[in-house]
Amino acid sequence: MLPYSRQWIDGRDVAHVIKVLRSDFLTQGDAVVKLEKSVSDYCEVKYSVAFSSGTAALHGACFAAGIGTGDEVITTPLTFAASANCILYMGATPVFADVQKNLPLIDPDEIRQKITKKTRAIIPVDYSGIPVDYDGINKIAKKNKLIVIADSAHSLGATYKGKKIGNLADMTVFSFHPVKTITTGEGGMVVTNNKNFYKRLCLFRTHGITKNPKYLIDKTQGPWFYEMQELGFNYRLTDIQAALGISQMKRINFFIKRRREISQKYMSAFKNYRSIKILQNDSIVRSAWHLFPIIINTKNYRQDRLRLFSDFHQAGLKVQVHYIPIHLHPFYRKRFGYKRGDFPYAERFYDGEISLPIYPKMSNKDIERVIEVTSDLIKDLE
Ligand SMILES: *Cc1c(COP(=O)(O)O)cnc(C)c1O
Repeated sequence: MLPYSRQWIDGRDVAHVIKVLRSDFLTQGDAVVKLEKSVSDYCEVKYSVAFSSGTAALHGACFAAGIGTGDEVITTPLTFAASANCILYMGATPVFADVQKNLPLIDPDEIRQKITKKTRAIIPVDYSGIPVDYDGINKIAKKNKLIVIADSAHSLGATYKGKKIGNLADMTVFSFHPVKTITTGEGGMVVTNNKNFYKRLCLFRTHGITKNPKYLIDKTQGPWFYEMQELGFNYRLTDIQAALGISQMKRINFFIKRRREISQKYMSAFKNYRSIKILQNDSIVRSAWHLFPIIINTKNYRQDRLRLFSDFHQAGLKVQVHYIPIHLHPFYRKRFGYKRGDFPYAERFYDGEISLPIYPKMSNKDIERVIEVTSDLIKDLE
C-alpha cells in the first residue's frame, strides 16, 4: 500500500532522538531553541516559536493577534478544520471566503466582500503547498488594518516571487505532522518578524507565564519569581520531538527537491488527459508539493470520483481527498446554518478531488506504479 504521504525517518534521526533521551532534559532544554533557530535561519525570519502541534500554533497566532469575542476572521472553507477552529477557540467567528474558480486558494475579491467592521484578521491557506496571492491579500489587509496569519501547514519550503514562505504574512504557521514537509511526530511552529507577536506567542505556549525579569510587572520579588500575565496553555514541544525536527531540517532541501521531482513526473504523465485537471505551478510561485491533487472533470464527476477512489484503493494506492469543505461538517452546519451551495468553487473542487501519493521516500518504481495505475483509471473516463 502506498499512502498519500508519509514521513522519512533514517538512522541519523534516530541517533538525534536517542541523544536527547539520554540527556538531562526531555523538555524545556535547548533542543527546542535549536529547532527554532534552524527554522528561523531557513525561512530567513527573526523569530520562531515551537508548539506542540500546528493546531496549537494556529491557536497561539490567533491569541498573539489579539483576536477575541465579537471579532470576525476570514478564512477559506477548503482546508483542514483546524484553520477555522482556532478562530472559535478565541471566541471569534470564522467567516469563509470562497476559493478561486480554477485554483483552490482563497480569492482576494471574495475576501474584500466579506470584510465588516468586526473583521480583525485573515487566515489564508497555502493549499497543497502553493502560496496564496500574498500581494493581493496583504494589500487588502493593509487597507483595512487586518492581521494576516498564513496557515502554511503545507508550504514550508515554498517560495512566492522568490521570497521564502514565512516572510509574507504577519505570522506564518507550520505543522510538523508526519505527512508534512518535515516531522516531529506532532508539532508546529509560528514564525514572525514582529517582536510583540513573538512575546505573546512565548507567553501563550507556557500557561501565560513569564520568568523573564525584563517583562515582570512586579520587579521587587526574588530570583524564584514568575508571573502569570495571560491565560495560556501548556502547548510546549518536547526536546525529544525537537531533536527529530533538528535532524529533519538538515534534509529539508532534499525533501522539497524530491517532492518537486515526483510532481514533474506526474505532470508530464497526466497533462494530456481531458477528464482530469492538475494544478499548474507558474513561475512566480514554487509549491512545496505537500499534495498532488487531480480533479475529475467529467460530466458525472461526483460518481466518477467515488468509483475512482475505490479503484485506487483496490490497486493498493491509498489516495485521499482534501478537503471536505469546513462549512459542510455537521458542527459548522449546526452552529452557523451552512449548507451545500454556500461556497460553490470549494465544493466543486472537493467533489472531483483525489490526492495521489507524493512523498520523498517513494522509490522511482513507486512513482511508475502510481503513473501506471492512474493512467489506466483515467483512460476509462476519457
Ligand atoms: C496539518 C494541518 C493543520 C494542523 O496541523 P497539526 O500539526 O496536525 O495540528 C492545520 N492546517 C492545515 C491546512 C493542515 O494541513
